[in-house]
Amino acid sequence: MLVTASLLASQPFRSRIAPTPSGFLHRGNAFSFVLTWLLTRSSAGGSLHLRIDDLDAERIRPEYIQDIFETLEWLGVDYDSGPRSVQDFDKNWSQKRRVEAYTQALARLREQRLVFACECSRRTVGAFTEQGLYTGICRTKELLFDEPNYAWRFRSESSAESHLVDIVQGEMRLHSTDVIGDAVLRRKDGIPAYHIASLVDDELDGINFIVRGQDLLPSSVVQQALARHLGYEHFLRVAFLHHPLLLDGASQKLSKSKGADSLKAMRENAQTPHEIYQSVALFCGISAPIRTITELLNAFASKV
Ligand SMILES: [Zn+2]
Repeated sequence: MLVTASLLASQPFRSRIAPTPSGFLHRGNAFSFVLTWLLTRSSAGGSLHLRIDDLDAERIRPEYIQDIFETLEWLGVDYDSGPRSVQDFDKNWSQKRRVEAYTQALARLREQRLVFACECSRRTVGAFTEQGLYTGICRTKELLFDEPNYAWRFRSESSAESHLVDIVQGEMRLHSTDVIGDAVLRRKDGIPAYHIASLVDDELDGINFIVRGQDLLPSSVVQQALARHLGYEHFLRVAFLHHPLLLDGASQKLSKSKGADSLKAMRENAQTPHEIYQSVALFCGISAPIRTITELLNAFASKV
């Protein structure tokens, strides 16, 4: 791990925890929360924001939002800004309050001819490679943007390579075309896609440090390309940490839909989060046994 005292002292980390309440959280989410908290709290003057991504209203349920608060409490992960309860979230923090900002960002990309309309579905012949990357067959069709059921995609070939700074993996130069293709920026149902909403939120919230799973590396690449086109000064200076995903016994990525491994089930069985602290410690190169989040913080402080 490349985290050093000088990195932690270089600037106060302003980071965020950003779960989507579309299922009960699992150990992989907890790992990410605790790691984000540990690094932010180890940065002098660092601050942590809680953001709950609720744009995809169909999949959101209040009990999943409640699960986020209960999980953070159970983990001992405190934060400096963001919602404190389901009611506070609905009233003051829902992403629906920022739809106008997401829409404006999309409009600015459209003005720059950086998006195109796409009529393809998963079943459209020739629209996707075997790896699932979109082949770009609508790029030259000049479809109308506001037809129902058309997605808006990023014209990734128009963009330069992204240059990401990852505090563990080092500097990475990657091109959207290679890692994600022409990403969907506005979904067929008209909802701004994750890449846009999360980017606009991070910029507006002044985030300068993003911890996320390795599966979101393609999103980081396309978001940085978009940030350049949108002139997002904060986001262009973000430091990343893309961490490996926790796997369950069958080597499958943990998913919220399964539930057996949910943190809620762990809490109901009166389990403590020590194994989560231990996996974060191991990731940070700490081999001593860790039972509490304070022990984790102290062990990390004596290591860097
Ligand atoms: Zn298409």
